[in-house]
Amino acid sequence: MSSRPAHRPDEPNGIGAVEVARAARAAGAARAALAAAAATVMPVSCAGCGRPDLAVCPACRAAVAARPVAVSRADLRAHAGLEYGDVVASVIGAFKDGGRADVARVLAPALAASIRAALAEVPRTGGSSGAGLLVATVPSPPAALRARGYRPVPLLLAACGLRATSVLRLARDRDDQAGLGAAARAANAEGGLVARRRLHGRRFLLVDDVLTTGSTLLEARRALVAAGACVEAVAVLAETPLRSGRRSGSSR
Ligand SMILES: [Zn+2]
Repeated sequence: MSSRPAHRPDEPNGIGAVEVARAARAAGAARAALAAAAATVMPVSCAGCGRPDLAVCPACRAAVAARPVAVSRADLRAHAGLEYGDVVASVIGAFKDGGRADVARVLAPALAASIRAALAEVPRTGGSSGAGLLVATVPSPPAALRARGYRPVPLLLAACGLRATSVLRLARDRDDQAGLGAAARAANAEGGLVARRRLHGRRFLLVDDVLTTGSTLLEARRALVAAGACVEAVAVLAETPLRSGRRSGSSR
């Protein structure tokens, strides 16, 4: 009988050999630890419901437990760890815009599950699924970074034991996508990203926090492909289901 652990100790969420994970996992973990330490010096209430003295209460923690599903927008196929709304929206809102960087560790398992589901569909070229992939994220406008003091998606990835490669940059200033309708989001996103360098032969896992219309991720994929890269898998923390046509794919 095998006593082999389900996950190797150096793979915190069992994601496996995404190449960039190894490079600076320690640096990412240190950043996450610092953010968590900063949070502990302030009075804490539940990021989901406001209950005092707990960073995330047991009920809200259960509400953000991973429920990965396959989703799609246009011809973009992705996996999401959670459905956006209610408690999930409150916790993600606290994490992204409420200064609650400490919540990254509570949300990380849902993103990790989404990434695992996305990588499971990548054809294996030897080794584990995801071997040789780089992780790309969508850059935040400088004003958003200044306001938050941290980058939410890279912080989540660090809590998953992964690190993104900085390959995309904003081609121009653009408005925050929040609060815009679908058409406005698409126009706002279109042409808004550009690769920092040629990426011929590079294969990517593209990761973002909340998938709504998909315009941001479609633009990120366009920019990566325009630079010669291949986007093999897309994973998001949460998906806002579209009003018409519910989520596609399995609900495993
Ligand atoms: Zn709560």
